[in-house]
Amino acid sequence: METYKEYLIEKRRKFHKIPEAGFMEIETTVEIIKELKKLGFKNIKYGRSIHHERLGVPDEESIKAHLRESHINADFDIKEIEEGYTGLIAEYDSGISGPKFGFRFDIDGLALEETKNKDHIPNKFAFNSKNEDFMHACGHDGHISIGLALAKYIISKKNLIGSYRFIFQGAEEGVRGGKSMADAGCAENLDYFFSSHLGMGFKTGEIGFGSVGFFATKKFDIDFIGKSSHASGAPEQGRSALLAAASLALVLNSLTQYSRGATRVNVGVLNSGTERNIVPEHAHMELEIRAEYQALLDDMESRVLKALEGTSIAFEVKNQIRLMGTSIAYNYIDEDFFEDLKNYLTSLGYNLILKPKFKASEDVSSMLKRVAEKGGKSLHFIIGSDLKSNHHTNSFDFDENSLYIGFQFYKDIIDYLNIKYKQ
Ligand SMILES: [Zn+2]
Ligand SMILES: [Zn+2]
Repeated sequence: METYKEYLIEKRRKFHKIPEAGFMEIETTVEIIKELKKLGFKNIKYGRSIHHERLGVPDEESIKAHLRESHINADFDIKEIEEGYTGLIAEYDSGISGPKFGFRFDIDGLALEETKNKDHIPNKFAFNSKNEDFMHACGHDGHISIGLALAKYIISKKNLIGSYRFIFQGAEEGVRGGKSMADAGCAENLDYFFSSHLGMGFKTGEIGFGSVGFFATKKFDIDFIGKSSHASGAPEQGRSALLAAASLALVLNSLTQYSRGATRVNVGVLNSGTERNIVPEHAHMELEIRAEYQALLDDMESRVLKALEGTSIAFEVKNQIRLMGTSIAYNYIDEDFFEDLKNYLTSLGYNLILKPKFKASEDVSSMLKRVAEKGGKSLHFIIGSDLKSNHHTNSFDFDENSLYIGFQFYKDIIDYLNIKYKQ
């Protein structure tokens, strides 16, 4: 199986070089399609048809600027991908009746400049990011590589039954792509659905099996519109958008007190003002709320809206609020399915850590839920990987040995369910 090890590392490094932000994974999408075609996939869907409503799409100018710097070539129509309808679905039907499998791999990078440190392995082996301000700092380059290796395995294996759907999803960061693709029907009609994340605090060789505790979350952009005036000559005529926003930021941090479950709030961006002697007319805020349970998130949301209304009244400013991303809480496990797979995988020698709490948001939760609601079996796992630095930091790097472990884990599950179904 040495060839798969090489394939995994080669693909990981290839995609590590071209990180792209959410809904801008244009070169990434095109390169995945090209590879899948090369492997022999005929049924590949992409563009508008695999999306419903996309939240938090970058403005047209940013997408165009990104395209100018990319060198994309394809011998198929990529117009819709270039409009930010990124990601794709590839399906392989064995032609023999059997279960319908689905897998989801996220493909986006982050707006982060990769470290120039020479000890950083991507620098050492010359596969560092060529997109200056972007980086694969969460491990999604590894997810793409596992997805492709699995696709290669499925299409080359002779005696498989059923069908296999590979969902390569963009814009996971900021939880935007998952819901859009799930609402477009990407996860319908599946008997089994699996997804995973590399790292997340687990060591190489450990597998977090049956992740639960996905946080519900909503991401908002808020703009305050006040009135400018001379700060000394006529301060009473001004209405400070900056003070309104600053005040709201403080109020929001009092919203996390709940006895019923964990919650989070973070104001991550606050920009305002033009000159020291002008009462600021405009302020821009980006914030997120998260909660262990949906009801808590709904409650927090209504309090965010009240606090926004209250501060706007107090400071006599107008506001505009926009939803930029959202994901649901997910805590469900099909116990029989979980037990059965757990026993089998343990017998193969896997070091499983059962039902790890994810404690973050992952927009695959919309797909996990949809499959489970329709009677399918869905599971998420964490493929442990020794990390050089935490997720979302500029020297993030994972242990490439974990790619093969992850690939093999998926492969063993598929082989097992095939045998089981045939009996
Ligand atoms: Zn991430
Ligand atoms: Zn991630």
